[in-house]
Amino acid sequence: MARILDNSNLPRKKYGTEERIDWAKAVGCKIPFEYDGVKGNLTVLEHQKKNYIVVGYNKRKKRLRTNQLMEFKIRDLVLGSNQLLQKLDFSQIPRKNERYDWAHSAGCKIPFVFYETEGELQIISYQTVEGKGYLTLEYCGRRHRIRNINLLNGKIAKAIGFFKKEYQYKVGDHILEKSKDLTIIGQKYEASKGSPILRKLYYYHCNRCGYEGWVDEYSLCRYTRCCSHCAGKVALAGVDDIATEAPWMADFFQPKDRHLIYSLRKNSSYKIYPVCPNCGRIRETMFSIGTIYKLHSIGCPNCSDGTTYPEKFLTELFRQLKRKVLYHPSRRQLPWCKPYVYDFYCPKTNVIVEINGMHHYREVGHYSRSLAQVQAADRAKKALALQNGIPEQNYIQLDCRFSELNYIKESILQNKKFMAAFCFEESDICWEACEEATMTSNYWNIYRYKQEHPTATNKQIAEIFQVCKSTVTKALKKVMAEPKEEK
Ligand SMILES: [Zn+2]
Ligand SMILES: [Zn+2]
Repeated sequence: MARILDNSNLPRKKYGTEERIDWAKAVGCKIPFEYDGVKGNLTVLEHQKKNYIVVGYNKRKKRLRTNQLMEFKIRDLVLGSNQLLQKLDFSQIPRKNERYDWAHSAGCKIPFVFYETEGELQIISYQTVEGKGYLTLEYCGRRHRIRNINLLNGKIAKAIGFFKKEYQYKVGDHILEKSKDLTIIGQKYEASKGSPILRKLYYYHCNRCGYEGWVDEYSLCRYTRCCSHCAGKVALAGVDDIATEAPWMADFFQPKDRHLIYSLRKNSSYKIYPVCPNCGRIRETMFSIGTIYKLHSIGCPNCSDGTTYPEKFLTELFRQLKRKVLYHPSRRQLPWCKPYVYDFYCPKTNVIVEINGMHHYREVGHYSRSLAQVQAADRAKKALALQNGIPEQNYIQLDCRFSELNYIKESILQNKKFMAAFCFEESDICWEACEEATMTSNYWNIYRYKQEHPTATNKQIAEIFQVCKSTVTKALKKVMAEPKEEK
């Protein structure tokens, strides 16, 4: 049957070389149409954001996108659902005093013909709420609740899923676009909350990466990259999931979230309430998985010792090299250092190692000092060290922009001064152990040691852990304190 929209009298506007309909100026205009035998005029009532318009016909209104109008998505507007109903047969419903006895109608069937659909609605149950009668109907495995009056008036469009739209793609279709290469291998309808429109879902196989998953039609048509794996939203188990790429992260997941390590990627923005891998305390603040990956820590208020990933990494490296290197040497150990604190100092070879995180290279939003301030302090610190007898080649600034095993490892191996000062080969170091060490908390280890050796004095513990006595006191006090409420 003929479907015609005559938009020739709508106002136009130039977009570059193209001339298109100016919908903003079209409000009030009439659009003559013919739709399956019905002829008339649609009126443009409103123009809204994102190419939505409201059109009216015969006291009915419909909000839709301008392109949907051009695709004739106006069936319900033109025909109106009541005109679509051809038959609704209540003959099976029992009667009482000439009226329908809905209370005894459960199990009865109501045959109908609606537009192109012929079928039967089954009554499941009847209820009255504040004097109003409600029926639960079932059609094609889907239930729908309706007022009995509305049923008598033929308002069954929603009950029979009339708003269910046809699929745009079929099983077997191959969608090949700029960043999409998918094959549709399955489809299903799914009820969506609070809307009579069923969602159309497709099960797809991504021909780029092999991932298979569900996507709804809206996302499939709208997003350029809708393979969840190619878009970085989910992982391929055993290929790039957390369990494969960053297995150390597993300890940060509570048992109930542990399954996520097989379905998400290490830099996912999905948020969890992480658990401290050291003391087992659950944080009350949510952390995105990507943040935990970046920091290698959740800053546990119970046991965190305040040292960063690269600091712990290097401490372990020096331990493996059997070099006595002081972390944050005190004024007693390095008398001239005032007003600064250097990161590492090796008294035997007179070497200083400074760890330069990202804020030494570019402006970092959450950091309290500006880049210029940080770099000025770096220059002053170096000048002070050189004045106090540290040779230029022994003043090492190590690029630790990323808290990642491979980045820091390469940064160390490429740093000529560092390699000359500590003389070792790549194979001398167990790099995985360095990474592992970043996960532990010194405070926690000190506390554990004290638990296992109650007679050990703070001074003895300080010697074992190569820290000063005050650090031991601080560590024990912090971990043993009653857990404080998190802000
Ligand atoms: Zn993919
Ligand atoms: Zn902790």
